Amino acid sequence: MEHACIFCKIVRKEIPARVLYEDDDVLAFHDIHPVRPVHFLIIPKAHIATLYDANMTHQRALGTMLARAGELARLAGAESGFRTIINCGKVGQQEVYHLHMHVIGGPDPLGPMIVRPQ
Ligand code: 5GP
Ligand code: ZN
Repeated sequence: MEHACIFCKIVRKEIPARVLYEDDDVLAFHDIHPVRPVHFLIIPKAHIATLYDANMTHQRALGTMLARAGELARLAGAESGFRTIINCGKVGQQEVYHLHMHVIGGPDPLGPMIVRPQ
């Protein structure tokens, strides 16, 4: 089923993104509003709205998101560490309802939490 969501449109190349990596299951692209010098998103190509909606049928894509995070972080310039964040739902202050993992890196230490500019 075709979804109208913005990340599905990026997957279908209907809107542009700076793609870092792509395979059959996942897409990684730079965040449009980076909060640190390295800030990209890894998403499953399939539309999964939130982490609540993920299940064992999605395990290959979800595994790939984690398994590729380190090499993609290095590729993007985060050589000395990074942080992954998955915001989920209203309390998690998720903005785009297509599951995505933020990968955020320095070079400076990130501090205890990332605060998004309001
Ligand atoms: P969330 O709060 O849902 O975890 O974060 C959504 C992220 O998606 C935000 O960091 C936001 O900057 C990013 N984003 C929203 N729309 C677009 C877009 O059209 N292109 C790209 N590359 N990033 C987007
Ligand atoms: Zn979607």
